[in-house]
Amino acid sequence: MNNYKIAVIKGDGIGPEIVDEAIKVLDAVASKENFNLEYNEFLLGGSAVDVFDNPCPDETIKGCLNANAVLFGSIGGEKWDNLPKEKRPEFGLLKLRKSLGLFANVRPAIIFDELLNASTLKPEVIKGVDLSVVRELTGGIYFGEPREKTADVAFNTMIYTKEEIERIAEVAFEEAMKRRKKVTSVDKANVLEVSELWRETVEEVHKRYPLVELEHMYVDNAAMQLVRNPKQFDVILTGNIFGDILSDEASMIIGSIGLLPSASIGGKVGLFEPIHGSAPDIAGQGIANPIATILSAAMMLDYLGETKAAQRINTAIKNVLQEGYRTKDLASFDAKEVVTTEEMGSLIAEHASN
Ligand code: NAD
Repeated sequence: MNNYKIAVIKGDGIGPEIVDEAIKVLDAVASKENFNLEYNEFLLGGSAVDVFDNPCPDETIKGCLNANAVLFGSIGGEKWDNLPKEKRPEFGLLKLRKSLGLFANVRPAIIFDELLNASTLKPEVIKGVDLSVVRELTGGIYFGEPREKTADVAFNTMIYTKEEIERIAEVAFEEAMKRRKKVTSVDKANVLEVSELWRETVEEVHKRYPLVELEHMYVDNAAMQLVRNPKQFDVILTGNIFGDILSDEASMIIGSIGLLPSASIGGKVGLFEPIHGSAPDIAGQGIANPIATILSAAMMLDYLGETKAAQRINTAIKNVLQEGYRTKDLASFDAKEVVTTEEMGSLIAEHASN
């Protein structure tokens, strides 16, 4: 029987509530598909500051590096907002991602037919959308040096090495091979030299993936196409800043922030987390939507090679939504019954073990 070590970081705010539900569902599919998950909990963010005076303790980094995958909830909250930068929860997460070498962020955006009305776009535009944004996470303008701000002038540097572009392009082509085999590489090659190198390098990597169709798109056009006709996209490959913006735009096509999972990969161990934050406004009330975290757990199983178990979870979520169960955030969208965080987790676990 396969045994996987999972580092669990529940974090702050709604983090513990939603991660508990994901673990419930993981346990249900593990026993059904005959593998074992061994969980070890670590602190990150505000809860780590409270205990260790450090938002990313070495013990957490070590624990993650010793695991097969990391399941993460969310961090942050007002309580820690006024601390110096290096003590803030968000800094802890950035440090963890960097320490684990997670240079690729994969964010699938899949529409559930049952929730077509939750989007601000027309149902006929979004029905059938199934795309995945692959964003470079550790390079580009957010990290480029030199950077400086004086009273009168400020600048940042957008920089990518060929090697950085190659490795993120590989992730995108691999992702496309598992999907509908199309990559749209997004850049601004009509203006930026860094995008020229991006485009040339993506073309080179593409030669190794002849089965995948490659198209290039300028970022301004991509932003427009995403709302005009999102169904045209399969995998969107892009750099850090463009990806930051486009992945948020893509996520809003779906309608609720509580439904979107993500994977950060590229290092020795992958990290799986919902795209939303710690939602302090609803923490402790039992109304958070756990689906984004449960979908992240399914992505984690896929990553570990337990594809049947991952599929079980995805189908279970679909079925539970089809039956009309909704958490409060989605209560106005064809709900037959509004359920708590815990009830939603139990319903999905039950369906997943059928
Ligand atoms: P947020 O994503 O936490 O919340 C935005 C809105 O969405 C809130 O109204 C919240 O109630 C709602 N929401 C979020 N997740 C939900 C869920 N699962 N179910 C139902 N409703 C949900 O963003 P924010 O309010 O801007 O930030 C709150 C804190 O989270 C901040 O400290 C921020 O720094 C942190 N944050 C952390 C992460 C992370 O851990 N990866 C990401 C973003 C923000």
